Order: sequence, then structure tokens, then C-alpha cells
Amino acid sequence: MIVDHEALRRVVSAVFRAAGSDDAEAALVARRLVEANLAGHDSHGVARVPQYIEAVQAGDVTPNRHAGVIADQGAILVVDGNGGYGHVVAGEATEFGIERVAETGVCVVALRNAHHIGRISHWAELCSAAGYASMHFVNSIGHTPLVAPFGGRHARISTNPFCVALPTRGGWPILLDMATAKVAEGKIRVARNKGQEVEDDTLLDPSGAPTNDPGVIYQRPRGAILPVGGHKGYGLGLFCELFAGALGGGGTMKPETEGAARVTNNMLSVIIDPALLTDAESYEAEVDSIVAWVKGTPPVDGGEGVLLPNEPEQRMRAERMADGIPIDAVTWGLILEAAETVAVDRERIAGMLAVHGAESHQ
Ligand code: NAD
Repeated sequence: MIVDHEALRRVVSAVFRAAGSDDAEAALVARRLVEANLAGHDSHGVARVPQYIEAVQAGDVTPNRHAGVIADQGAILVVDGNGGYGHVVAGEATEFGIERVAETGVCVVALRNAHHIGRISHWAELCSAAGYASMHFVNSIGHTPLVAPFGGRHARISTNPFCVALPTRGGWPILLDMATAKVAEGKIRVARNKGQEVEDDTLLDPSGAPTNDPGVIYQRPRGAILPVGGHKGYGLGLFCELFAGALGGGGTMKPETEGAARVTNNMLSVIIDPALLTDAESYEAEVDSIVAWVKGTPPVDGGEGVLLPNEPEQRMRAERMADGIPIDAVTWGLILEAAETVAVDRERIAGMLAVHGAESHQ
């Protein structure tokens, strides 16, 4: 199925409204999920609707909750997400930090107690749009661990994303946003839904032996995803635990979370006004010069050349804005089932797709 992004946004928004969110919240969560699809990260897009609706029904996320500053110390803010939708409270926490940077030049924001905050790019993009550089350390707690530490047989932490971004003159930010696992969990789920194997050196089975079967992540006892880049990705993932969970105060993954299913994200963000470090002219000249130098190397045989981090997402966005968003049958079926649990039936959704001119075809 190929669905127009506007139509998809309206359908998803109607589902969240039916699940108890006010109009603004429903529209915001829907917009951010569809943004992830537009960027090509289907694992963090509307495929999450069933998981979020289940979380509302289980009381793991509470609609219409907002973030609140619980400790204000100038350039350091501690923010409680109050168990609200991550897409709402992470945006609010980031905006608190952005406002503060205007006074202090730099701000560290420690967000705790948020439900799933999705792609970390959303929050880095808010900073870049305000003209600020930023870095974000995120951990994920309250559920069965997913990622084995380098050298270990069993999962101990999550896919803990790290994100860093820099605004550029007039264009999109240079932005690296990566899970510290070799593959984000949602991508393993997509492989499982499609009946595909994953590549070598990605997964361990519950005994700690290598496997290509994505199913090991969805059984109990669970297998494990390996860290990206061996000891280096493991180290970065551990620092996401240490910065977001220990330093930021949100808490780290613990043995008692084994078997639990409540996803809580914590995020420690550092937001920096470049104007306090360098003048705009030399900053822009340096960015332009390193980008031209790095991208200027000829492509390897059969390759398309060097891309900047965030370039694949920008290209995908342009493509999907124009041509629509592909959604596989399993994912769409699960979204329709979730919608039915909050009394949004298939006919209504079909009507919304038609009304909004979606080119949805099999
Ligand atoms: P990925 O591997 O697709 O991309 C990682 C980064 O590499 C991106 O910044 C991308 O622009 C860059 N990149 C990709 N190909 C490139 C190329 N050829 N040249 C240069 N740069 C390139 O992403 P991922 O690690 O699978 O993560 C997917 C998303 O999942 C991220 O947005 C992340 O924030 C999110 N995530 C969220 C959580 C959570 O708990 N909320 C957990 C894990 C992941």
C-alpha cells in the first residue's frame, strides 16, 4: 500500500484522539510518527501505533500529560515527562532548553520518565531550527533488555540512541542519529514481519550463539542484538545509560526490568549556541570547507559517493512527500486492529483515506 502522508497523518491522529488525546496531542504524535516514515525510518513511524495504543490501555502512557521542570539551575534543567507521550514531552523539554540557551548560551536538559520518544532527530532538529548545535544521549528502561554488551552472551541494555547535530547555512542540519545496536529493534521486527533473515553478526540466540533468526528477539527467554562496531558501539550505548540514566537521573536498566514491558526513555541533551564559541562567518566557512573536502573524494567502485549524515533521510523525505509512504500489509493490518480497539473502524479509515485523496493501492 502506498499512502499519502497527509492522509496517513489524519488517520493516525483520529486513532490517538479516540484513545483519549486532545486534538493538539493527537495531531502532534501523528505528525511525528509520519515524519519518521517520511525520513525512511518505518521502524519509528506509524508501525508504532499498536504499541502506543496498547501502552495507553495498560496505563503505561497517560494522554494529555505535559513535561514539567523539576529543578531549574540556570544552564541545567531537570525535566519530568510525567509518563506522557514521549513525542509531546521530549518536544517540550527540548523547547525549555532552547529558550534557556538564549539566556545562558548553553543548556543541559535531563528529561526523565517519558514514554517512547521515537527518533531522536526530532529533538535535534528543533535545536538546529533555532540555530543551535546539540547532542543527545538516550537510554530506554522498563523492558526486557535487547542488546548484549561486547563480549557478553546475554542482553543487558537497550538500543540506546545517540544523536548529534549542527545547523548549516540555509540548509538541513548535518545530523547523526543512530542506535548503538547494530540494528534498531524496529528493523528486526520488520524483518520478522516479512519472514526475512537478518545478516550475519547481528543477533545472538538465548544461549548466546550467533543466529540469523529475527524471531529470537520476540521469544522468551529473549536473544540479543549485538552492539554496532563491537566495543565502540557498546561503549557509546553504555554512556547513554550513564548520561541519560545515571547522570540525568532517569534511572538505568536493572535486573528487575527483565520481563517487564513498559518503555521509558530518558534523554540528556546538551544544547549549544555556536555564536558563543566562534563567529558566524568562520563557523560557516569551516563547515562548508570540511563538507566539500569530505564529499569531494571520488566514489568507490559501484558506489554513489559520500553522503552526509542526514542526507539519506532528506532524499527519502523528498521522495515520499511526492510519491507517498509504502506500508506493508502486516503493519497496516496491525494498525487497523489497534484502531478497532478504540472504536475507529475500517470503514471510517477507508473513508478518510479516500476523502483525503490517498493513492492507496496494493
Ligand atoms: P540508521 O543506521 O539508518 O542511520 C544512522 C545514521 O547514519 C543516520 O544519521 C543517517 O543519516 C546516517 N547514515 C545512514 N547511511 C549513511 C551514509 N551512506 N552516509 C552517511 N551517513 C549515513 O539508523 P538506526 O541506527 O537504525 O536508527 C534509526 C532510528 O531509530 C534513529 O532515528 C534513532 O533515534 C531511533 N531509535 C530510537 C530509540 C528510542 O529508544 N527512542 C532506540 C533506538 C533507535
